[in-house]
Amino acid sequence: MKPRDRLRIAMQKSGRLTEPALELLKRCGLTFRQSRDKLFCFGEGEPVDLLLVRDDDIPGLISQGVCDLGIVGRNVLNEYRRGADGDAPALAEWRPLGFGRCRLSIAVPQDMEYREPSDLGGRRIATSYPGLLSEWLKVQDVSATVVTLAGSVEIAPKLGTADAICDLVQSGGTLVANQLRETDVLLQSEAVLAGPDALPADERGDMIELLLKRLDGVIQVRE
Ligand code: ATP
Ligand code: ZN
Repeated sequence: MKPRDRLRIAMQKSGRLTEPALELLKRCGLTFRQSRDKLFCFGEGEPVDLLLVRDDDIPGLISQGVCDLGIVGRNVLNEYRRGADGDAPALAEWRPLGFGRCRLSIAVPQDMEYREPSDLGGRRIATSYPGLLSEWLKVQDVSATVVTLAGSVEIAPKLGTADAICDLVQSGGTLVANQLRETDVLLQSEAVLAGPDALPADERGDMIELLLKRLDGVIQVRE
């Protein structure tokens, strides 16, 4: 791939992380001109552009070198890392960003008897995070069936397609509304700055270092 002389950051086009990510970049001194199709935002002052995409696509775009950095939930980054084949370049979490906080948890129907992870043995668990769930089950030494769903995981027990779920939880309101009870936390998540394991050895590496310095200043002020 031809080396680029501008830095490209991938972020969520439309969702929970969009507004806080733009706000953070603004506080780092970056401003953007919105292009008409809104896939690409051209950076005005600094040589830093944005690519606005679905959050699930962000780790892959960094791994392919289409983008240099990404702002994405740790849940999405870590799920990608579990699933990525060994040849793909490794990704790293460069900074936690302090917004988009949530947790990936197991939840079971309120009337299901549950004391410990082994109670999930032989059960079906619905999730959009099969990699992270399988890893946790292995650590717990529990053998269960992982049912992968793209969305609406919380209604799977009611539909009878699963006995329990593994899903993102923030306030817990969605669980209560679906008569579910949170039992185990697999991952504490928040938005993170993701990038390749090693900085590019060209000017983009220097730009990333500068951005990290500004980010650290902004995050420190906020804390
Ligand atoms: P996209 O169209 O980009 O795929 P999405 O529906 O997957 O959007 P959102 O619901 O906007 O994504 O969530 C984006 C991220 O926000 C999640 O991956 C997670 O890191 C974080 N998040 C924080 N709280 C919650 C929550 N209660 N439910 C889901 N995600 C949450
Ligand atoms: Zn998504």
